[in-house]
Amino acid sequence: MKITMAHGSGGKSTSDLIGTIFEKEFGDPVLSKMEDSAVLPGAGRIALTTDSFVVTPVFFPGGDIGRLCVCGTVNDLLMSGAVPKYLTCGFILEEGAETDDLRKIARSMSETAKEAGVRIVAGDTKVVEGSGGVYINTAGVGFVPDGIDIGAENCREGDAILISGNLGDHHAAVMSRRMGIENTIVSDCAPLVEMVNAMKQSGVHIHAMRDVTRGGLGTVLNEFASSSGCTIELEEESLPVSEQVRGFCGVLGLDPLYMGNEGKMVAAVAAEDAERAVACIRASRYGENAAVIGHVATGERILLLKTPIGGTRVVGPLYGEGLPRIC
Ligand code: MG
Repeated sequence: MKITMAHGSGGKSTSDLIGTIFEKEFGDPVLSKMEDSAVLPGAGRIALTTDSFVVTPVFFPGGDIGRLCVCGTVNDLLMSGAVPKYLTCGFILEEGAETDDLRKIARSMSETAKEAGVRIVAGDTKVVEGSGGVYINTAGVGFVPDGIDIGAENCREGDAILISGNLGDHHAAVMSRRMGIENTIVSDCAPLVEMVNAMKQSGVHIHAMRDVTRGGLGTVLNEFASSSGCTIELEEESLPVSEQVRGFCGVLGLDPLYMGNEGKMVAAVAAEDAERAVACIRASRYGENAAVIGHVATGERILLLKTPIGGTRVVGPLYGEGLPRIC
């Protein structure tokens, strides 16, 4: 069945659509009450985030817009030290979207939410004229345990900078599909719950964490430098990039430092915890290529890259346009 303007009327067609796809796939008792807002248990410090997903194509190697929207929101909560709990989702559907596709997307959201330990408890659906596009906004709520204080301003001299795995996979996978380039690169789209929990449980002192999404590692680490007043020094040789993505970047003149990922994080941790943190991430799902890639030095608020032949260059944040609609 195709989405028609009637599915956005707020009437019977809308409730049928919600009931047969979203309510059925998400299966949450709070959501099923279909009240004006979800009333949720929880206390303490609340973390709240929202993000919109407009990726095209909606199904790409290694994932789809459903998995992406859950991972993106869960990961943003995790990076602030919160335990992710609840998500909302707003669907903007263009007339002509296939309900079979919508069901696949909802199923993917549900499976990813289960994997990440979050519940989808509220939602909205609108239909607009168009040619079958699907866009999703997700908001997420998490609770920050006492004693947790994670933020870019907390980077301090001597901290180790860690990355949880290879750079650029999501960006290269979506770009390959959009450009019709045949390869076996798949998106890294994943919830990072397990690796963050492992680090917290082993008592690693995490000073700052970010997921490495649009803008890439270069942009994130410039934010670390700018917020903390420190300089971040990276070793180019230690940056993990797969052979395939390195080749892809070489051919197209792209820099993995500015490629978007959807299942990678960078963290600044106390130097004495660096090895333990990398071991925790490597033992976790999606973290097998984790590495220490640099350290925090005294302050000039810049990001420096040390090359294998002994040179050093300043790396700025991403300027201008990145590839549109990778997330
Ligand atoms: Mg983020």
